[in-house]
Amino acid sequence: MAGRRVIGVVGAGTMGNGIAHVFARGGFEVRLFEVERAALDRGMATIRTNLDREAAKGKVDPAEVEEICGRVRPTLDMTELSGCGLVVEAATEKLVVKQEIFRRLDELLGAEAILASNTSSISITKLAGGTKRADRVIGMHFFNPVPVMALVEVIRGLQTSDATFEAVRLMVLEMGKTPVAVNDATGFVSNRVLMPLINEAMFAVMEGVATAEAVDAVFRLGMAHPMGPLTLADFIGLDVCLDIMRVLEDGLGEPKYRPCPLLVRMVDAGWLGRKSGKGFYEYRR
Ligand code: NAD
Repeated sequence: MAGRRVIGVVGAGTMGNGIAHVFARGGFEVRLFEVERAALDRGMATIRTNLDREAAKGKVDPAEVEEICGRVRPTLDMTELSGCGLVVEAATEKLVVKQEIFRRLDELLGAEAILASNTSSISITKLAGGTKRADRVIGMHFFNPVPVMALVEVIRGLQTSDATFEAVRLMVLEMGKTPVAVNDATGFVSNRVLMPLINEAMFAVMEGVATAEAVDAVFRLGMAHPMGPLTLADFIGLDVCLDIMRVLEDGLGEPKYRPCPLLVRMVDAGWLGRKSGKGFYEYRR
């Protein structure tokens, strides 16, 4: 495949810069495309900072940091992605934004190239439907922080071919991560199972079953979770949790996905968790 080892990444935000980082660390050449100059500069600076941190911890050879950074070429011009064998889209979570990116990439890329999305909630089958290469469209769902988390959910759309799945699976392994195969359905596995757990923990607090501290202690000490569900919710952002519950409720249509009224009230109050200074816990800013 032409340019098989050249990977395009679209969006240099929280996830995009992490995805560029792990591909470059895995030996791939990366073209990192953004629409905003400031976001591109921030993304490149974050890659450097995170690689320096990994070098300080002995996870990356300090002598290689420069070389890895050199493998990521930032650009504001999408045509620079034309020779890529795989492009991973990690732009803003809006259907119209992603559809337009997929339409342009479908025109720009070679016939063999694979188009992937890091979407958390948009149907891969729907994104593929807007292209002429539905068999070469797939989901690659990375986890935050990307350089640290081992999992990539590899999402097969209805028309994703076995060859596409296998090519992506091998690339995930090559960058030192673990691929897990999942079919295209609302919330995939991660959010479909995690968010109702978090939502139920909120119901327990709302109904006075236990305090937030007690609910979290049950999961940390009884189930060996590294952090309790309410600490995790504050970390993810309560607004993001609410959006995901609404996506599950709409997509799966069952009352068990109803967002907890306490979550709705907290988001209305502007209590969004860590990023706003207050959620289930208080944070110094
Ligand atoms: P973010 O807001 O940090 O970054 C998105 C970036 O995309 C921004 O820098 C923005 O300028 C850029 N962008 C917007 N439109 C663009 C376009 N047309 N072309 C190129 N770049 C464009 O968002 P994020 O948290 O990195 O999320 C990105 C994607 O990853 C979303 O689909 C999200 O659902 C998914 N995701 C996020 C997480 C998470 O924990 N943040 C986890 C898994 C998946």
